[in-house]
Amino acid sequence: MRRVVSKNPSEIEFHQATRELAASVWPLIEQEPRYQYSKVLERLVEPERIVMFQVPWMDSRGEIHVNRGFRVEMNSALGPYKGGLRFHPSVNLGILKFLAFEQVFKNGLATLPLGGGKGGSDFDPKGKSNAEIMHFCQAFMCELFRHIGPSTDVPGGDIGVGGREIGYLFGMYKKLANEFSGTLTNKGLSWGGSQIRPEATGYGVVYFASEMLGTWNRTLEGQRVLVSGSGNVAQSAAEKVIELGGKVLTMSDSSGTIFDKDGINHDNLNWIKELKNNRRGRILEYSKVHRDVRYLDGERPWNIPCDIAIPCATQNELDFSDAVTLLENGCCCIAEGSNMPCTPGAVDQFIDARILYGPGKAANAGGVAVSGLEMAQNAQRLNWPRDEVDRRLKEIMSKIHQVCKEYGRRGKYINYLDGANIYSFLKVADAMLDQGLV
Ligand code: GLU
Repeated sequence: MRRVVSKNPSEIEFHQATRELAASVWPLIEQEPRYQYSKVLERLVEPERIVMFQVPWMDSRGEIHVNRGFRVEMNSALGPYKGGLRFHPSVNLGILKFLAFEQVFKNGLATLPLGGGKGGSDFDPKGKSNAEIMHFCQAFMCELFRHIGPSTDVPGGDIGVGGREIGYLFGMYKKLANEFSGTLTNKGLSWGGSQIRPEATGYGVVYFASEMLGTWNRTLEGQRVLVSGSGNVAQSAAEKVIELGGKVLTMSDSSGTIFDKDGINHDNLNWIKELKNNRRGRILEYSKVHRDVRYLDGERPWNIPCDIAIPCATQNELDFSDAVTLLENGCCCIAEGSNMPCTPGAVDQFIDARILYGPGKAANAGGVAVSGLEMAQNAQRLNWPRDEVDRRLKEIMSKIHQVCKEYGRRGKYINYLDGANIYSFLKVADAMLDQGLV
């Protein structure tokens, strides 16, 4: 870790993600000379390739802007690089390296042949017109297209990159590469996209939470659930919780949290979807039109008593003191919908308290898993029906839960974090050893 920190100064999220994995797998590496000899850990923390490029574009008033574009191709031991693109002003190399590193092990759990990568830009989509979004996506793809391909690197969505952006990115890719292929996932349903892909991360995290609750002979029925975020993952997680009889008390955005003590119902959730996806408004508006709903300005949901918390916003959104509060209030299950939402201090609290803690690389792997199914359908030039994809998603989440349980069992307690890290590390490391020093 000393070397990781000194070679990658100021990339704190990357240090955090690598330290967490190393802590889980260290006892194993000490016992297995072949992993030490082949320097597997040292190779895993060095991206196989990074592409960094300039994205110049013009806004609707004729002003020129220059953003930074990135693609981190982290590890291809298990398959072509796979992982989303993030457009957000906070994006920098360190953030994308942490996300790409997480993705390698998430994809190792997802049961499909996928390597790991991540990319994006510090472009801020907030307040931009549709035309500006299209021009930016086209400018971004003008460089990215030469580095990706259906068997090389397959980007998908992440924060700031949803169906609309994938459409513009795909259009430009198709034109430049002169091919209609499955090089991007999260595509529209009529042009190569998969059923359930938009919902997959959120549904998957709730399926994973249900599996964890099942080990305590509990279900979601009647449980009070805090959801953070109000984007793609949060919306589908909330939808599935409601469908399974749970009560969604909160949703949030970067400005604040709405607290609906009666639970957000299907109609209200549809209202939120319309607000966020079509009007691109702020969650505050929900409290203005729905009586009995409190708006907690500048706050996150974690102070509200609950049984289950599903963070679906962004990295490090739930810290040590939030964890203490959640535990004091009786929360017994955390399922991470976003990538690395809990700080290391928070994670330690959950594991020390021996509650159900499902780390993102396991709990939110449903998104990339259905992206893998989208790639499979594209390769077959077929579209599978919705039921079929949902059935496969459920099966995959159950398998991920199973391996975490197997590799993370510590007496009566299941340490899902160790289980996920150890199982996936072994899979990736052994594939690297099989393929030699490349
Ligand atoms: N952004 C998604 C994740 O964090 C993956 C996107 C994709 O490649 O489908 O897993």
